[in-house]
Amino acid sequence: MKFDVVTIFPGMFSPVFQQGVIGRAIERGVIGFQAHDLRLYTHDRHRQVDDMPFGGGPGMVMKPEPVIEAVESLRAGNAGQVVLMEPWGELLDQKLAAELAQQWGLIIVCGRYEGIDDRVRTALQAREISIGDYVVSGGEIPAMVLIDAVARLVPGVVGDPGSLAQDAFSSEFAGWPQFTRPAEYRGMAVPDVLLSGDHARIKQWRRQQAAQRRGSHPKLRS
Ligand code: SAH
Repeated sequence: MKFDVVTIFPGMFSPVFQQGVIGRAIERGVIGFQAHDLRLYTHDRHRQVDDMPFGGGPGMVMKPEPVIEAVESLRAGNAGQVVLMEPWGELLDQKLAAELAQQWGLIIVCGRYEGIDDRVRTALQAREISIGDYVVSGGEIPAMVLIDAVARLVPGVVGDPGSLAQDAFSSEFAGWPQFTRPAEYRGMAVPDVLLSGDHARIKQWRRQQAAQRRGSHPKLRS
């Protein structure tokens, strides 16, 4: 699966995607990732990517031409869905991440300023996705969240597929409290059952603990 990102800050991505599970997957070629500088798709001397909003109001709006030309040129190497990161978009959840992981790739456009000229969405038949009902300053961090959530579902990215199955949103019983050594720390002991070696009892305890956590989470409550 290939991720192409269009942004005015391509440098934001390299420190993040050189680390950890996703970093290793990119290095090993299990997934492809590239951040593309939107300004390279401008034609004027000032490499302008924004302009004043029609109808007035504060701030600037991202011009349609550089974004559309950037995506069109990336489409030659990426047949995936075009996504615009926008706070009013479809809310990203585990189900949407799993759906997007079925794609050949994603071309993700990061907004800045007051947002992206709406003709970009129309022209590119783009899907608008939000990472939550709050506003951050640009689409770069939201794009990183989306890519990470989708990429870890691509086969071969997470080394042990068992750890995907026990992700909090992936299985009915996942999300139990975890402990490691030492068995006692500052007077806090690891629950006895986990040291018992009794796998049936451990399983039952984990189910019950996970159910308790789910009960207090609005999205996991069933
Ligand atoms: N004025 C706009 C906010 C623009 S924020 C408004 O009131 O909605 C600038 C850019 O940040 C957006 O174009 C989008 O790309 C990104 N962004 C901000 N919050 C986001 C969120 N919750 N999810 C996805 N992208 C977001």
